[in-house]
Amino acid sequence: VFNFCAGPAMLPAPVMKKAQEELLDWNGQGVSVMEVSHRGAPFIEMAKSSEACLRELMNIPDNYHVLFMHGGGRGQFSAVVNNFLGNNGRALYLVSGQWSKAAAEEAQKLAGEAQIDVLNIVKKDNGLNAVELPVFSGSAEQYRYLHYCPNETVDGIEIFDDIDCPWPVIADMSSNIMSREIDVSRFGLIYAGAQKNIGPSGLAIVIVRKDLLSLPQLTQSSIMDYRLTAENDSMYNTPPTFAWYLAAQVFDWLKSIGGVKAIAAINAEKARRLYACIDDSGFYKNGVVKANRSQMNVTFQLADESLDKAFLQEAEAAGLVALKGHRIVGGMRASIYNAMPLEGIDALVSFMNSFAAKHGR
Ligand code: PLP
Repeated sequence: VFNFCAGPAMLPAPVMKKAQEELLDWNGQGVSVMEVSHRGAPFIEMAKSSEACLRELMNIPDNYHVLFMHGGGRGQFSAVVNNFLGNNGRALYLVSGQWSKAAAEEAQKLAGEAQIDVLNIVKKDNGLNAVELPVFSGSAEQYRYLHYCPNETVDGIEIFDDIDCPWPVIADMSSNIMSREIDVSRFGLIYAGAQKNIGPSGLAIVIVRKDLLSLPQLTQSSIMDYRLTAENDSMYNTPPTFAWYLAAQVFDWLKSIGGVKAIAAINAEKARRLYACIDDSGFYKNGVVKANRSQMNVTFQLADESLDKAFLQEAEAAGLVALKGHRIVGGMRASIYNAMPLEGIDALVSFMNSFAAKHGR
């Protein structure tokens, strides 16, 4: 089965196999990693080496903390506000789709006397969705931070350009972290819910520039406090140990196949093949300009939507599962994260071509 689920998404097959083998006996201890203390040497060793591996994979500079936190992507929607906005601060939220909109709404809910400015950056270009990044001017004091989502999982919109602005940039990379090379030093903070390119849901990875942790904070919950989390090596309370262990396996797997540079080349080829199938078909269509088409979440519609049900049923029978689009936007979506091999794309393309041929194109 090739699983195109947007999240929780498929994990690399070798990782799942190793986890299965180690389920009853991790590290020669005769018990699972789920059953050992996070304060014990074996777990701490695993935690340290996983951070080192992630630092190497993403080339994370020393002036950044790497945190392993609870609460997934949405947990970070509120953590960002709690840690950085302050009681009378102001922040700018760019909206490019459903997830950045949700982050902005959460910020507005929590802002109190502080101010959240929201800027929609998606315009129509010949009927297609296109991101138009404004030229940002203004003083460094105007905003505490700018928040955006470089890959909109629901809408299939990706922003490849870096944001140039005088404020710390905070990016929700839940659905494209480690999918291509980025320059971490351009960001104040990067966060990602784990369940696409990292591991199981519930875990969130946070990469934050150390100097930002001295900004004023709102009263907040301890487990969402970046400072406290950093001071306690992400173990202020019991961390999600099994999720952390699986994330460590995914990092090792990615390193073993050549790291982010290698997977980026494969991801580009996967996306190229799938979008070519859509564009060449006359039967499927994608509603995003080429410059902003997501390499991770490929959205498409059938020319005749009365065939949607048959498409999904026949795809599933062919072992191609979870292709239904998000309920808000409808249509289809193939999520093709790092763990999806090229063979999965070829199988999908071949199915889509024969489905189109069978239904008259
Ligand atoms: N941000 C993005 C870009 C997402 O795709 C998701 C969904 O998985 C989230 C945030 C929310 O993550 P979670 O469900 O872990 O709260």
